[in-house]
Amino acid sequence: MKENIQEIPAIAGGTPVRDTKISYGHQYLDEADYQAVLDVLKNGPLTCGPKIEELEDKLCRITGARHAVSVSNGTAALHIACLAAGVGEGDEVITTPITFAASANCALYCGAKPVFADINEKTYEIDPASVESCITEKTKAVVAVDYTGQSADLKALRKICDEHKLVLITDGAHSIGTFYDGKPTGSIADMTTFSFHPVKTVTAGEGGAVMTDSDELYKRLVLFSKHGITRNPDWLENVPDGPWYYEQIELGYNYRMTDIQAALLISQLDKLEMFKARRKEIVKRYNEAFSRIPQIMVQEEIPDSDTTRHLYILRIRPERLSIGRKEFFEALGAENICCNVHYIPTYYFPYYQRLGYKKGLCPKAEKLYEEIMSLPLYYAMSDKDVEDVITAVKKIAAYYAV
Ligand SMILES: *Cc1c(COP(=O)(O)O)cnc(C)c1O
Repeated sequence: MKENIQEIPAIAGGTPVRDTKISYGHQYLDEADYQAVLDVLKNGPLTCGPKIEELEDKLCRITGARHAVSVSNGTAALHIACLAAGVGEGDEVITTPITFAASANCALYCGAKPVFADINEKTYEIDPASVESCITEKTKAVVAVDYTGQSADLKALRKICDEHKLVLITDGAHSIGTFYDGKPTGSIADMTTFSFHPVKTVTAGEGGAVMTDSDELYKRLVLFSKHGITRNPDWLENVPDGPWYYEQIELGYNYRMTDIQAALLISQLDKLEMFKARRKEIVKRYNEAFSRIPQIMVQEEIPDSDTTRHLYILRIRPERLSIGRKEFFEALGAENICCNVHYIPTYYFPYYQRLGYKKGLCPKAEKLYEEIMSLPLYYAMSDKDVEDVITAVKKIAAYYAV
């Protein structure tokens, strides 16, 4: 099984920088989180209870948005955002390929076609000029992604969407806590979706939310996340038969979050500032160190932004190394630094290839994919962990420098 191990230039010589493994991301839970969950388990209700309202109020306070709709995960959030936007059969939705598949799948769920715009090669965010070139008479919405946690170029995207009467959705799965142009993520696009999966900055185990300022979109988001059923007297279409009365007025889904998850997330959000501060500190340290290594390229920050970074992207300059990304990734693994790659361009996947998408569609995104890996970045990393990562990157870059 291991006979060809010598052929893989995994170790850049000497002993590994660390003797214990460190992974790219990990949740941080404390006693307050455990107590919050226990309290709901002991005193209930387990779902449709007061924790949901408390959470939604808190998300509105943090993001400055007027409405929040909590859901079971970030994918469900994207699905109902597309439904609320009126995305349907025959429509097109523009997004980036450098994201988790859900950012494009949400269009497919609605019978629409995802159209992939290319990225900005410096910030790695969806490129507004490319978005504009993808617009046709069928385009209904843009799903921008706050890739790595920094905002997409929302000023430019807002202008394009207004001009072409498109709904602007931001997939903010990475960006809770980020500010752009002085405003928090969640208050800028027509709708912003969040994910609270354990690798994200704050977690509910599984969870998601959609933020909006629009009363009309809010109504549709609530309906699509709760079977299309309502008791709200302002929303009923017919005269109630009696006090028990409710109506189904849309074809919705059961995408509810439980109060158990909401209680955990409320407690996690109390730590958002703390999480944000530490993440920023680690990113600053990485940027300082890596900007001095000629074999590495540092992601450029979007102007006017204050970023809570979810992912730290290490990008190699292949022309200055005798190895490629795969070997660099393996060499980091040999130093016990366990990375990941975010992301494989969505349309590379067999499912998308079968739908007729061809490689070559977004050259800058494809080049980025060849050169990146995500380094460890999470709240509980110690200073020593951070320095170990830097030492390992330096060691490999120097060993394979050309
Ligand atoms: C995590 C993630 C999602 C999906 O969120 P889930 O809560 O896992 O469904 C969507 N988009 C992006 C960019 C993500 O990182």
